[in-house]
Amino acid sequence: MNRSKLKDKSASFLIIGAGAVGSGVAYTLAKAGFKNVTVLERENDVAKVTTSQGAGLCGQVRNSIDRVRLAMRSVATFRELQKDSVAPPEWREVGSLRIALSDEKKQDFVKLASICQGVGLNTSWLSAEETVEKCPAIDVNEIAGSLWCPSDGYLTPYRLVKSYERQCIKMGCNFVMGVEVNSFLMDGSQIQGVVTQKGDFEADFTILAAGAHAYPLALKAGLELPVVPVRHAYFVTTPLTDWDPDWPCLRIPEMSIYGRVSNGSLLLGGWERVGHSMDPRQLASEENSPSIRTDWGVLLKFERDFAKLVPNILGAQKAKVAKGWPTFTPDGHFIIGESTKRPGLVMAVGCNAHGISGSAGIGSLLLEALTSETPSNYVTSLSPDRFSENCDWSSSVKEARSVYEHYYSD
Ligand SMILES: Cc1cc2nc3c(=O)[nH]c(=O)nc-3n(C[C@H](O)[C@H](O)[C@H](O)COP(=O)(O)OP(=O)(O)OC[C@H]3O[C@@H](n4cnc5c(N)ncnc54)[C@H](O)[C@@H]3O)c2cc1C
Repeated sequence: MNRSKLKDKSASFLIIGAGAVGSGVAYTLAKAGFKNVTVLERENDVAKVTTSQGAGLCGQVRNSIDRVRLAMRSVATFRELQKDSVAPPEWREVGSLRIALSDEKKQDFVKLASICQGVGLNTSWLSAEETVEKCPAIDVNEIAGSLWCPSDGYLTPYRLVKSYERQCIKMGCNFVMGVEVNSFLMDGSQIQGVVTQKGDFEADFTILAAGAHAYPLALKAGLELPVVPVRHAYFVTTPLTDWDPDWPCLRIPEMSIYGRVSNGSLLLGGWERVGHSMDPRQLASEENSPSIRTDWGVLLKFERDFAKLVPNILGAQKAKVAKGWPTFTPDGHFIIGESTKRPGLVMAVGCNAHGISGSAGIGSLLLEALTSETPSNYVTSLSPDRFSENCDWSSSVKEARSVYEHYYSD
């Protein structure tokens, strides 16, 4: 591939998957001036698979400077997209409270706050009383306080992707629905495009953003990547009196749960103590991911834990359950960038359950990986090349599940 095409913006891109990640990447490429960008999606609309199930929380408080920066980039994009009155992502910058139940936890949050401060993300410690002023449903006696991040918030994942799609189309990108990628056009190890039942599509770069289907598709190009789908779910209650949509998002790491107000109801989810993964080696690329049975044992445990802080939530009627297979990697980091083993094939997979909040930031990391002559150490560390030729599946699955199970370990 002639790299000068990246410099003069004449390079062509195919993106497999119109979830939050593929669409966010398309948006970043289009904003950077690339005109020839086509997104291929096998469903009949964008964001129908994992993204549609997302809770939409967008948290910027992370445990490394690079991750905080990435989330900040995404939030800046959500603010920008929200200015469009036709298809806004329904971004609500209500802030977030990371609640500590103990003084030991407070010490972890102090460390997180100093990471945030290093990159200019404003956070502050609130006492229990100050926390309850922001979310009056919480019992002041049950908490030690919280880390407040005023620029956090939530959005509607489907709306975010519609927003990306609309802006991309305005900038000249194509979104083609109902096209399933079956295999790759290859010249030796070079990837030159994809084969679909509706014909071949050629491009200088093919970007794989197929969520839980990343493994079987990458394998068709001869790459084995440890992208492990792990089940995740939350429920939404029927509307509750006095639950204000402007209350902040809540994260309670000591209980491994999160929540937010959703149209006057409570959305409550969490991370299972023992993760349940799906073996993607059993998943054919043309097959849907297996359906997930609602595990009320798990969901009601989230509710019981939350009720220690908000007692009257116990037994609230449930209106909806959302569930899906977000993907995890053994080291907990995204897989972003071109494979040197398969030049022309670029990964945007392994989102570790923040593919929605991270979507815009992921796009800019991918752009840096492709176009920068001196990409940052962080970007280099995300390369698919970090995984060896043959995955050791049993250890990869164990490690990926552990990333899920310890999601909130600060
Ligand atoms: C219950 C739940 C709650 C969550 N909450 C949050 C949250 O609050 N914040 C957050 O940031 N993240 C959250 N996540 C994680 C988030 O949903 C994922 O990280 C994100 O949606 C991944 O986006 P994606 O584009 O990679 O995958 P997907 O949304 O799955 O998109 C992949 C797309 O690729 C398409 N595709 C697959 N194979 C092919 C093919 N062969 N040809 C063409 N197209 C193909 C699929 O049809 C699909 O549309 C949550 C996930 C779940 C399940």
